[in-house]
Amino acid sequence: MPDTDQPQVCGRRSFLPAALVPAAVALEPHPGRASAADVERDLRCTLQAHGDDDHQAFVLDLDGPDTGAVWASWCDGTVPAQVRVLPPCPAVGGGEPCMEYAGHRGGHSFELHDPLADRSRAIGGAYGT
Ligand SMILES: [Zn+2]
Ligand SMILES: [Zn+2]
Repeated sequence: MPDTDQPQVCGRRSFLPAALVPAAVALEPHPGRASAADVERDLRCTLQAHGDDDHQAFVLDLDGPDTGAVWASWCDGTVPAQVRVLPPCPAVGGGEPCMEYAGHRGGHSFELHDPLADRSRAIGGAYGT
């Protein structure tokens, strides 16, 4: 078990279907600023560990300081059916901005213990096709 009192991140993984890649790019308000290569398809829920409600994962950062980001949500055993733009969480802790969206559940990202945070993102997590 981790030797920390911090809450754990959920860490559940999913995979963004290919059909949602152009949908995510189309949400970028500045044409040409985002491409399919920028879309994160290896999804990982970074909310605080939670119950049966939907997982949420970052998909694409949008250009501009307050434009938010594209997020996908899914239930266990499924892949996301849609993507949507959510504003950024305004919380900052110790100079570190929260990486979640505004109004997210659980603790802010800087309050959570993420066992993968000090590793590379080399671990693939694709589920299904
Ligand atoms: Zn989750
Ligand atoms: Zn937050």
